[in-house]
Amino acid sequence: MSGFDKICLEQLNSKIRDIKDFPKPGIIFKDITPLLRDPDTLYMTNRLLAKPFLKEKVDLIVGLESRGFLFGPSLAMRLDAGFVPIRKPNKLPAKTISASYKLEYGEDSVEIHADSIIKGNRVLIHDDLIATGGTAAAATELVERLGGEVVGYSFLINLSFLEGTKKLKNNVLFDALLTF
Ligand code: AMP
Repeated sequence: MSGFDKICLEQLNSKIRDIKDFPKPGIIFKDITPLLRDPDTLYMTNRLLAKPFLKEKVDLIVGLESRGFLFGPSLAMRLDAGFVPIRKPNKLPAKTISASYKLEYGEDSVEIHADSIIKGNRVLIHDDLIATGGTAAAATELVERLGGEVVGYSFLINLSFLEGTKKLKNNVLFDALLTF
């Protein structure tokens, strides 16, 4: 990594704030809104997210609701890929398939449009943060059930003490800009 990229990452780090006991007691929420509000860190994040995947053939970014929608489409544009949302239940209008997952705080399921991935599509799964890895694992399941190939995972933040990466495919690219 270049010295310049290291400085960028330090700046990104300085724009992420910890909110204690949100949304539930005991959770330290990583709030990225200060990073989004600042034009420099907004740009740097977009550039750094794309960097590890520039040489990879990616057809689709699959972004996870809701903060995976913040950088997902701009990451897709950098990689000449399309964007597909994975959403909470009953949000997508057309035919969907769903998978259950556990959150750091609670349990839920996620859905994807059944026609959003064509067999053989190369997919990069993206979210703002990986905690327990449940959401990204559910996304992996959905992509693979539709015949897509998961070629990598992209996150801004990895809460590594929760060991979420253990739930992901381990023979593909993985990138998190910041690890806590
Ligand atoms: P998980 O399925 O446990 O990996 O949880 C990841 C999802 O929950 C992501 O969509 C995150 O946006 C959100 N999330 C979980 N924990 C946190 C946290 N401490 N701060 C911010 N977002 C979180």
